[in-house]
Amino acid sequence: MNAKKILLRWMSLNGHAVSIQADNPPKPVRAITSSIKGRRRIHIGTTAMPAGLISILPLIISFVFLHICSAQEGAEWNVEKSSHFIVYYKEAPEDFIKHVIGNSENYYHRIASDLGFNRYNFWLWDERAKVYIYNNILDYQVATGQPFWSGGNASVKDKIISSFPYAHDFFETVLAHEMGHIIFREFVGFDNNAVPLWLDEGVASYQERSKYSQADTLVREAIGSGKFIPLEKLPQIGEQFSMPADTAQLFYTESFSAVDFLIKKFGKDKFVTFCQSLRDKKSMDRALASSYSFSDVGQMQEAWKKYLEN
Ligand SMILES: [Zn+2]
Repeated sequence: MNAKKILLRWMSLNGHAVSIQADNPPKPVRAITSSIKGRRRIHIGTTAMPAGLISILPLIISFVFLHICSAQEGAEWNVEKSSHFIVYYKEAPEDFIKHVIGNSENYYHRIASDLGFNRYNFWLWDERAKVYIYNNILDYQVATGQPFWSGGNASVKDKIISSFPYAHDFFETVLAHEMGHIIFREFVGFDNNAVPLWLDEGVASYQERSKYSQADTLVREAIGSGKFIPLEKLPQIGEQFSMPADTAQLFYTESFSAVDFLIKKFGKDKFVTFCQSLRDKKSMDRALASSYSFSDVGQMQEAWKKYLEN
């Protein structure tokens, strides 16, 4: 089904040359995706090919493509286990898998203590999180149905992370971000509608801090240029796919900066109390009021903007 979708997209492109590009990709939906950083291109050129061959090229591509996909789907998963993770992979290098295990175990402890979340359930035995490492970007897209710019995704409730080995920032971005989502949602509740999208993404993005070192400056600039998006207007789930890339970028930057502000300015303990109030089914405004001196999100936003000015 997914293979078919991707194939259709390929075929709908110029029939002779196909270019899949992840350049300035939009960041993804909620707990589900992280984008690829940098530029990746796959070109299938047709230079100097006979006209007859060109006309049947899409068919050849589709045959080879589906053949490769089905071969990959049929291959057995290799399994590597640690205390809190089970990693499934096919052809990914063993070194890479060892790093996946090592980094996942580190994040398991670091993220919870970083956010001040005391763990009450441990990811042991059957509760271990699963990480699926696909062979490459195409294999990953076919299996998960993720968009072309996605570098990884998490099924938060099932504690499943899917990705593929690629550039150096896999561990610092995709893995950290997706684990941030799982740990945060485990704490505040998976079906908790009081948690706004900016908080969800802000906490996950907070795990990739090095990537957001310029966040405050960028938000300040957005305020100055009138591009700033008020927190309550930040897009809802589902609309993100249609956001232009720069809006998506600003959305994630603002989400990070707002969470960073709450933790830096008022400390971890208050942030934990705030999240606990949300977990205990208080509304966003009541949770803010019980931990901070803001009566609602609007007041918190004003304080955050003021903080950025200094
Ligand atoms: Zn996310």
